[in-house]
Amino acid sequence: MKVGVLALQGAFREHREVLDALGVETVEVRTPAQLGALDALVLPGGESTTMSQLLDSSGVRAPLAERLADGFPVLGTCAGMILLAREVVDGRPDQQSFGVIDLAVRRNAYGRQRDSFEADLAVDGLRGGRFPGVFIRAPRIESVGERVEVLASHEDVPVLARQGAVVVASFHPELSGDLRLHEWFLTEGER
Ligand code: GLN
Repeated sequence: MKVGVLALQGAFREHREVLDALGVETVEVRTPAQLGALDALVLPGGESTTMSQLLDSSGVRAPLAERLADGFPVLGTCAGMILLAREVVDGRPDQQSFGVIDLAVRRNAYGRQRDSFEADLAVDGLRGGRFPGVFIRAPRIESVGERVEVLASHEDVPVLARQGAVVVASFHPELSGDLRLHEWFLTEGER
């Protein structure tokens, strides 16, 4: 199995470290060609507006959209979730998302960098049941469509969700030193 981490900007190294620790072959994706042989992809946290621009200038947007339309397994965390959502509230007018999960998300809704927090989350289907969620200037899921399965919530707001092969988290599983969420994405999470 070969897993890509979109490495245009943001916390891609941390995702890579988790995947390396799980013994998975990992590719940092910066060009369309690097998408070719992948079985799954991670879109990291960072800055969705910048990543949106870089998706265009790198030429990665169109081939990635094509793969996503074919049911390519993808995990989007934080800014990565914004890039996968159907609707972005408080986005910059020029930022574009792939719209492959039926969610409306509000950028930066959990406040500024200094309002970052950690929360102990109950996660459906995860080995051990609970997961430490690290929230950094996180987007908030404001509505979910019928086909979206909510896997974890924090204060009644969904924070981990899935629609088919698309999994999104408003928090940063790559920063908690816990490999189980990535492991789940690569095994049970995969369809
Ligand atoms: N605020 C960022 C954005 O809009 C997301 C924050 C993050 O990924 N830590 O892209």
